[in-house]
Amino acid sequence: MIEFEHVFKRYGEKTAVRDLSLHIKNGTTCVLIGPSGCGKSTTLRMINRLHEPDDGYIWVDDVALRDYNPAELRLRVGYVIQSVGLLPHLKVWQNIALVPRLLGWDTKRQRARAEELLDLVELDPAEQADKYPRQLSGGEAQRVGVARALAADPPYLLMDEPFGAVDPLTRTVLQQSFRDIQKRLKKTVVLVTHDLDEAIYLGDTIAIMNAGELRQYGTAAEILTEPADEFVRDFVGSDRMLRMLRTVDLPKLTNERRRATTADRQRAERGAGALFAHGATLKDAMASLLAAPNGNVDVVFADDTVASLDFATIRGLISA
Ligand code: ADP
Repeated sequence: MIEFEHVFKRYGEKTAVRDLSLHIKNGTTCVLIGPSGCGKSTTLRMINRLHEPDDGYIWVDDVALRDYNPAELRLRVGYVIQSVGLLPHLKVWQNIALVPRLLGWDTKRQRARAEELLDLVELDPAEQADKYPRQLSGGEAQRVGVARALAADPPYLLMDEPFGAVDPLTRTVLQQSFRDIQKRLKKTVVLVTHDLDEAIYLGDTIAIMNAGELRQYGTAAEILTEPADEFVRDFVGSDRMLRMLRTVDLPKLTNERRRATTADRQRAERGAGALFAHGATLKDAMASLLAAPNGNVDVVFADDTVASLDFATIRGLISA
């Protein structure tokens, strides 16, 4: 649990964060979003004490942050940044094992942990562990950054624009991959972004900030359907109901199912009138529907069943 209680942060005359109160439940992802300069990064960095609040309290696990020993805090709170910050003279596995090495683990155990984490972030240890950072693509480097932050298995993870520096396609793949990992690990994550679609896709809760103030805090569905004020309404935009599509996972479909055939799976692979449920949302289904000649799309589930989906079903799922 992370709790902000009437927190202020000032830089000279400038108030970067004003009277922030926020409760983040364990095992959830909270996304901080808002225009540039609204105080997102400052808020994030107060959690690992890169910045100290001028007023108010921050609690982590019911312990006041200012009573934490900084070294212990670093172990409990992983940190992922946009530029990744891998050390160029160390191999990938050594970069991942930085914290375990500081903890005095022997080399064999460090290497084993690094390989386990490479697997987790879907990089092949045999291929990647002994590379140097300059031999990685942007997307691979980001994955290594996430692996490094998870090395000591911290319960908390802070992510500052973690997918900001990669191309849109890689970004989508990284987001899906992160969401899968988070479903398994259930860390308490605070993630900063300026991308609303990313916030909606990854956030269990979203905190919208403006000029140092929290304007609304809630689930994506709450923020999209009931914006608290004009600022939030403008921020989420007039296409907010379209954005809602990305809040609903296809596995939530409860339609009647039939057994999948080889033909269904092949069509899903080709994206021809069918798609796999894994990692997909209603937005993907909508895109397929718009391209489908006969007004419906088949969704193939992991248990090898198929459900049919049309516009009316989508409408029902959004208003549910
Ligand atoms: P965001 O992450 O939302 O873009 P920041 O938290 O980085 O915003 O910054 C919030 C405000 O505080 C901005 O106006 C920024 O210029 C100011 N600020 C941030 N860091 C410093 C600093 N070290 N010194 C002075 N002003 C700062």
